[in-house]
Amino acid sequence: MVIRIRGRALPHGEHVDLYADGDRWTTDPVQNADLVAEGWLLPGLVDAHTHPGAAAAGDPLDHAVLRDHLRQHVDAGVTVIRAPGLAGEPPPWFGVDPDTPRAWHAGPWLAQHGQFIDGWGRRADHAELPALAAAQAARTGWAKVIGDWSSDGEPVPLDVLSAVVRAVHAVGGRVAVHTQQTAGGEVAVLAGADSVEHGMSLDPDLLTRMAEQGTALTPTLSVMARSVPEVRGRPDGPGRTWFLRGAQAHGSLVAAAAEAGVRVLAGTDSMPHGGIVEEVRALAGAGMRPHDALAAASWDARAYLGLPGLEPGAPADAVVYAEDPRSDLDQLAHPIAVILRGLPVRVTRR
Ligand SMILES: [Zn+2]
Repeated sequence: MVIRIRGRALPHGEHVDLYADGDRWTTDPVQNADLVAEGWLLPGLVDAHTHPGAAAAGDPLDHAVLRDHLRQHVDAGVTVIRAPGLAGEPPPWFGVDPDTPRAWHAGPWLAQHGQFIDGWGRRADHAELPALAAAQAARTGWAKVIGDWSSDGEPVPLDVLSAVVRAVHAVGGRVAVHTQQTAGGEVAVLAGADSVEHGMSLDPDLLTRMAEQGTALTPTLSVMARSVPEVRGRPDGPGRTWFLRGAQAHGSLVAAAAEAGVRVLAGTDSMPHGGIVEEVRALAGAGMRPHDALAAASWDARAYLGLPGLEPGAPADAVVYAEDPRSDLDQLAHPIAVILRGLPVRVTRR
């Protein structure tokens, strides 16, 4: 059975009538195709920062948990994920099985000794970081470096992170850098990281440079905002002050980043999985235009990962809504259909 979708395709809103020829969209009509949905079409949602497969921080990768998390993403309309850090080597079906999203991943987080979450990631000397990162990126296209950790962990030095970026680019890969400190954020940008993850407390003066050199920002805004009440309840201390100051400034940083032309990517940092819609709301709530907040979680994030949108020859992913989600973000919580690799994985018949 060949499936067909039609309606108005974002980002431009033009009318399209698409048939899935296996995992490729085509406009060539196919007789007796099954029209599974009509409405407003997106080329699927993207969660650009999620760590599926572990029940809790520090836990090993569990294949059943992994599948469960991936299904939660698909239920939310996510057809592509990027996992900047995984708790273990993913199974061969990861990113491939019909009802799980396409996936990019960076293998284990690479961190300095004494930093990051116990049980997760790989610790490395500065001297071995570039080669380790390049070897990972050669395998999966991405390496993830913990550029700084917590309120007081020393950031990876600029010369080391610059060497990491050079080594990874030399094998055709990209580097994602976790940073939540002003100093670490500056190192990530000056080193030419491909994406800054979180970017809490980032100096807004660096946004122009990020836009110019193509460094994306994945602000993980919703998870950070969710942590505020809990952190506020902690006893006074430098860690509490650091987090609250950074988290409270984060929304305006995101708005300024979008304004400066920085590519913003929607990422949930996972818990609960399938929370991408909440991140889109948070981005819009911070002041991004709904069109841009949606781009960050769909067509623009796909383009960043090398996937075209709803056009002939593109991979056959789509999520369909009854109304234009840009004028009503609540639409995002109620997709009519989720199409993945040319197959209707979730459909609400009306
Ligand atoms: Zn993360």
